[in-house]
Amino acid sequence: MTPAVSNSHIRNRNDALPASAAPTIVDLMRTTRRSWVAGIMPIVALLAMMIALAVLQFRWSSEVSEAERDRLQQNLNHSSTAFQSAVARDLLGVCRALQASQPREPSVAVDRLFNRYAAWRRISGRSALVKDVYLWPQSQSSADLLRFNLDARTLDPAPWPDALRPLTKRPLPHQARHWLWDERTPALVHPVYALGTSRDAKPRLYGYLFVVFDSRSFEQAYLPDQARNAFPASNGFVFQLLDQATADQPSVVYRSGTGVPGEAFPHPDAVFPLLDEAALRNPSGPSANASSVPVVLSVGPSRWSIAVRHRAGSVDAAVASLRRRDLTISIGVLLIFAISLFTILIATRRARRLARLQMEFASGVSHELRTPLAVICSAAENLADGVVTREDKVRDYGSMIHREGQRLSGMVDHILDFAALHSDAHGYHLAPTPVSEVIGAAVANSRAIAHADAVRLETSVPADLPALLTDARALEQCLQNLISNAIKYGSGGGRVELWAAPAGPNSPDRVLIGVRDFGAGIAPDDLPYIFDPFYRGGSSRSSAVRGTGLGLSLTRQMMEALGGRVTVESSPGTGCAFILEVPTAAAHPEQPAPARLA
Ligand code: ADP
Repeated sequence: MTPAVSNSHIRNRNDALPASAAPTIVDLMRTTRRSWVAGIMPIVALLAMMIALAVLQFRWSSEVSEAERDRLQQNLNHSSTAFQSAVARDLLGVCRALQASQPREPSVAVDRLFNRYAAWRRISGRSALVKDVYLWPQSQSSADLLRFNLDARTLDPAPWPDALRPLTKRPLPHQARHWLWDERTPALVHPVYALGTSRDAKPRLYGYLFVVFDSRSFEQAYLPDQARNAFPASNGFVFQLLDQATADQPSVVYRSGTGVPGEAFPHPDAVFPLLDEAALRNPSGPSANASSVPVVLSVGPSRWSIAVRHRAGSVDAAVASLRRRDLTISIGVLLIFAISLFTILIATRRARRLARLQMEFASGVSHELRTPLAVICSAAENLADGVVTREDKVRDYGSMIHREGQRLSGMVDHILDFAALHSDAHGYHLAPTPVSEVIGAAVANSRAIAHADAVRLETSVPADLPALLTDARALEQCLQNLISNAIKYGSGGGRVELWAAPAGPNSPDRVLIGVRDFGAGIAPDDLPYIFDPFYRGGSSRSSAVRGTGLGLSLTRQMMEALGGRVTVESSPGTGCAFILEVPTAAAHPEQPAPARLA
């Protein structure tokens, strides 16, 4: 800004003031590079940490998946062993109950078998499983079969049941303690020996004992019971009881739930028979060692089997879905973590930038306040000391003191307005206001500084514009801020244009007021920040142009509070235009009609 009266003769006092605290371009570049490095370092560290965490998480989830696979496999093995042990325990129980020592007389052997069979039926909880017990004496014709009649305690001749016939064509056990489990019948077969009357006679095969099971209740009740006990719904597995008695393909005779298919699983996790050698050798459970009678149970061709599958489709599918879930949760947590850290980082950088701007503001404002104060003090001192006596010079000194005082009070107003805006202490009174009135008042208030900088203010305001609904004082101040910037930064152009126009068909209830200068324009790097509080463009800081960095920030906030907005168009080298968009009274028809029209 060029004062109307040269300050040359008071410059000696002004020079005594401390030099401007504004940083040089080199200082700024260094600071920028340092802050860029300081800003990028945490991001790089954060990214490295996230990648490391993601890799660790991936490994952990692989290990967890393997552990889960082992656990499921163990569950499966444990359940199948429990099932086989339970079946083995029950069958061995029947064998032990009917296993008699070898008497001399066959009749005694038969008598003992009656006793044991009757006792077992009484005490066993599974007696319904055994349908009939037969004796096939080997001394007589092999066609005869004798059925144990428990009520009459007699061995009644009986026709050969169809299910037993195939057994006679197979090799039957011939050792005294040997039992054969034939699943096809299903039946237990056992040789019965008698020692004979002579002292040194060798045990003689007296006949075969057939313990025939009730196939229906064995398949429909007993086996499903055992399988359900071994595979409770809580362990995640479903099962099918398969029967391969006749068909080539096993048929599903029982399934653990309605969701389980009626056809045999194409890819079960395990298929196992009712009995297995290990389970027979060591049938764990409460009654496993209830009897010390040693028996050997061997297994014929198998008929039933249990097919097991994990509820998820397979153990692999269950593990894969667990892994997917784990990874999704971990990635989610990592993302939340990253977003939080980035937010903190951005907030910290913003806070740092604001703090730096505030520091610059503090030093800038103190400098800005001191300069007019120094001019005022020196001029007043010169007047008081009688250094200036000529009337025209005294008048010039008076107007200089007045101008600098005005500048000082304008600056203080800016700071107070800014503080008021941030403490919500302002209260705008919206009233219908003619456009020309606001523009006229702003131009009148800026005329002195425009004149000082030899800038021409040109206005173009159509007469038929609708009245604005605004706080006239606040809008004037916004306009003055823009005019004073246009003079400060665009004075090279020699003129500043002010115009007003309807906002156009998209915003019929608004009027645009523009302030255009023909100076250097705004650097593209500065453009995104010029409305930030305390921000001063790079060229403004490096040049001697005075300012607080609050004018545009105040203008934007005030325009928003008035229901409008401010925008900027800038082309470096040819100047820039700030445009205020102001609501008209038509936007709020309930407001009283304007007193005067523009
Ligand atoms: P101050 O003028 O006190 O620095 P402002 O908030 O009014 O603060 O402006 C912020 C910045 O915007 C200025 O420092 C300047 O770099 C830039 N600026 C504002 N108006 C103009 C303009 N008409 N021409 C060029 N640059 C401008």
